Amino acid sequence: MKYDYIIAGSGCAGLSLLYTLLQSPSLQYKSILVLDKAQKKSNDRTWCFWEKTPGLFESIVHAKWNTLEFLSTDFKKELDLESYTYKMILGLDFYNFVLDYAQQFENVTFLQETITAIDTGVDAAVVSTQENSYTARYVFNSTNVFNPEITEQNSLLQHFKGWVIQSEKPVFNPKVGRLMDFSVSQKQGATFMYVLPTTTTEALVEYTLFSPRVLAQATYVSALKKYIKEDLSIDNYTIKHEEFGVIPMSLAKFEKTSKPNVINLGTSGGFTKASSGYTFQFIQKNVAEIVNNLEAGKRPNPSTAFKDKIYQWYDRTLLDVLLTKKLTGKEVFTKIFQKIPAKKILAFLGNESTLAEDLSIMKSLPLKPFLGSGIKQL
Ligand SMILES: Cc1cc2nc3c(=O)[nH]c(=O)nc-3n(C[C@H](O)[C@H](O)[C@H](O)COP(=O)(O)OP(=O)(O)OC[C@H]3O[C@@H](n4cnc5c(N)ncnc54)[C@H](O)[C@@H]3O)c2cc1C
Repeated sequence: MKYDYIIAGSGCAGLSLLYTLLQSPSLQYKSILVLDKAQKKSNDRTWCFWEKTPGLFESIVHAKWNTLEFLSTDFKKELDLESYTYKMILGLDFYNFVLDYAQQFENVTFLQETITAIDTGVDAAVVSTQENSYTARYVFNSTNVFNPEITEQNSLLQHFKGWVIQSEKPVFNPKVGRLMDFSVSQKQGATFMYVLPTTTTEALVEYTLFSPRVLAQATYVSALKKYIKEDLSIDNYTIKHEEFGVIPMSLAKFEKTSKPNVINLGTSGGFTKASSGYTFQFIQKNVAEIVNNLEAGKRPNPSTAFKDKIYQWYDRTLLDVLLTKKLTGKEVFTKIFQKIPAKKILAFLGNESTLAEDLSIMKSLPLKPFLGSGIKQL
């Protein structure tokens, strides 16, 4: 049997594409095979992102904030997000939501198999697993089969351990999320705490670093304990949930299309922003474009607009500055948050800023280190 589409990998990108396809009156009855080596049954990650208008997953948003704060040594700023809202979705809510919705479509088949290769066929693509091979007109891939090598020379790792803690007493303000607290020790590389309170007694507290190597688990644990006790002044709490993640912030090339009829999605398609690790909203924009192209009878391959190339250059420049240690992450982010309103920063980090906003952010940073890295990455 030849499927219309194979979705190879049913994580954030694969399931976002599936859900978006199933919303389309002209595409929702196409034959779709969804392959993943894992069952998506655990709450393995929390996605945060910002947007101006509610998106497709608004009904499963777990918490949201219109105010964030940024902290550094001797500096604290409350950030009014204006037209943006910062939102949190729990991984398990997302998986359940899409998988439950897809149940009503008999044209969608799910198989749990490990993919070993993806090749091009005649006007088709072929996915090989350890058990079988499957053919489709198009394969949408978010597995790591085509990923470039991540090395210490081409990448920083964004690695973090987060705890959802429940305090005995009401200590949090659920209206204000702490986006970055750089006042912590920077001995291990660019390091900040991220605190997202969902009630007065519950918050996600995450110890996050941008550095070449992952640390021993005990180091994250002691940093979290210290911060909760000394900075948040909480003595009695329980840990309700734990997450650990590593996201590549990379200069290596993640291709959007590896072979004809094979389209890469998500992190594998280069939709993780190299300078921040944020991916969720870029995935949503990408899958919406793919579905629009298919609805219009075009090839699904998304285009790379000139402005996207400019953002890639900005990201690569910042990453180069950090990789070559010309400035620290703390210096860069503190300067930006000191001088630029939050709305402009979020527009910039979300690839939605105007050229005038880009220039104001560049002006907030020292020229020399960025000029050298900018020319190198051009
Ligand atoms: C803990 C964590 C927290 C994050 N938080 C945020 C956040 O707050 N905001 C944000 O924007 N981004 C965040 N990210 C980054 C990014 O959004 C996520 O990594 C996101 O899940 C990427 O989506 P994806 O579909 O590319 O990859 P995944 O969601 O990892 O999906 C890939 C799928 O492919 C499957 N797979 C892999 N190899 C094979 C194979 N050989 N055969 C079959 N199946 C295979 C996997 O089982 C998986 O289901 C976070 C990442 C992590 C790890």
